[in-house]
Amino acid sequence: MIVTTASAEEPSLHHCADTAGKIPADAEEPPGYRSHRFRQKFFKNISDDTWNDWKWQFRNRITSVERLAEFIPLEKQEQERLKFVTSRYPLSITPHYLSLIDPDNPDDPVRRQAVPSFEETACAGIGQEDPLAEQKDSVVPGLVHRYPDRALMVLTNICPVLCRHCTRKREWQHGRWVRTDAEINLMLDYIRRNPDLRDVIISGGDSLTLSTGRLEQVLRRLRAIKHVEIIRIGTRFPVVLPQRIDAELCAMLSQYGPIWINTHFNHPHEITPAAARACDRLLRSGIPLNNQSVLLRGVNDSVATQTRLCHELLKIKVRPYYLFQTDDVKGTEHLRTSIETGVQIIAGMRGHTSGLAVPSFVIDLPGGGGKVPLQPEYLLSASGGEYIFRNYQGRIFRCRNPRRADGAADDAAALAAAQP
Ligand code: SF4
Repeated sequence: MIVTTASAEEPSLHHCADTAGKIPADAEEPPGYRSHRFRQKFFKNISDDTWNDWKWQFRNRITSVERLAEFIPLEKQEQERLKFVTSRYPLSITPHYLSLIDPDNPDDPVRRQAVPSFEETACAGIGQEDPLAEQKDSVVPGLVHRYPDRALMVLTNICPVLCRHCTRKREWQHGRWVRTDAEINLMLDYIRRNPDLRDVIISGGDSLTLSTGRLEQVLRRLRAIKHVEIIRIGTRFPVVLPQRIDAELCAMLSQYGPIWINTHFNHPHEITPAAARACDRLLRSGIPLNNQSVLLRGVNDSVATQTRLCHELLKIKVRPYYLFQTDDVKGTEHLRTSIETGVQIIAGMRGHTSGLAVPSFVIDLPGGGGKVPLQPEYLLSASGGEYIFRNYQGRIFRCRNPRRADGAADDAAALAAAQP
């Protein structure tokens, strides 16, 4: 018989609970509490060891609408609609990530990211399959070379959770694949032959779905290329399946540094005790962590949510790096917000909290134009060497440029000339 022990996920309730151990109705649940309740309800007989085994989590992903309906109330008609959606855009949610969802809230921010929506197919005519033109910039299968000194490797299209806002949603329609040895050889050969490539990014599909040994084979060979200075791994595992960040993986990664990891937290509810532990393990293995979030309608499109997300990230020592405007991807229109919303969010954060907590808001230009940062306008005018700014409170300030050697003042023309 499996004995259920006290959950490793079990949160401390002493901050919020009353003396009877109940959470007051108006209080925010402590991190991990929802997950704990979920386990008690649906996986009562699953031991901590099993729950924290990433392979068990991975094997037990929820991949059908029928199975999902066992956890989240879905009307019959809704189920039929979602089956139609998943015939085009499949579904995959780990038990861990599912446990973060409030089943009674159709607008739950975690649910919006993971549970399919009829709007994905209802707006099928809008958006593009490959808005960033990655296929155009693929020099060999799976390797995108767009910027002069860096390249992107995609080793698989498999992810533990299929995010409804994914830029590479087009890849879900070709079954599940992992690059073959021959394909990886071609990628590595290309990188070897291009000495300008000093930064290689391994991104999603999520490369941590590979076994630790298989991933090590790629990292070892990449690290052996002298001009590759840094390796970056883009992964959502610390968010959606933090159990994957185990001692074996961390020990392996620590041998091939400098490795930087970009995580993908989008909402404060994702920062659970398990996620914090995963990030801590990576940091202790010498891997700096940055976060790339995506601006999503009804998920994190407010100053309050973004500020809370970034504060919570800093508490687990993850630096908020980018906030992305959602790409113009087919099947994601319902999750996209206006560019102005993003700029307003940055305006509401800049100056109101530490600069460390403010990510760069960027748009990845369609057609492979690359990333462009967007921010509120603080420079109002420049003339005769005098620059007029407004600060975050709307107050006006003048700044003088130093005189040039020829005695002339720098002005707006000089400023314009300084632009690329
Ligand atoms: S983890 Fe990244 S690559 Fe995978 S589905 Fe989510 S957004 Fe797409």
